[in-house]
Amino acid sequence: MSKVLESRSRFIKKRSIKCPVCKRNAHYLLAPFCSGRCRDINLGHWMTGNHHISIPCSKELLNIANDDVIAT
Ligand SMILES: [Zn+2]
Repeated sequence: MSKVLESRSRFIKKRSIKCPVCKRNAHYLLAPFCSGRCRDINLGHWMTGNHHISIPCSKELLNIANDDVIAT
């Protein structure tokens, strides 16, 4: 396992990240999901409109998001 994946695996275990679909422990390759099945279920919720962003995206929020992307 590469150092990046080892670090990711430790982070997920340390934080006890749970799958948002079934609440089992997240898999380090699929985090925050535990499996491809749960990842697909979540995507289906977004595609059918069951999940949505509840506030309009302002220029200020976009700038914060862009800063986060640049910083990582
Ligand atoms: Zn799951």
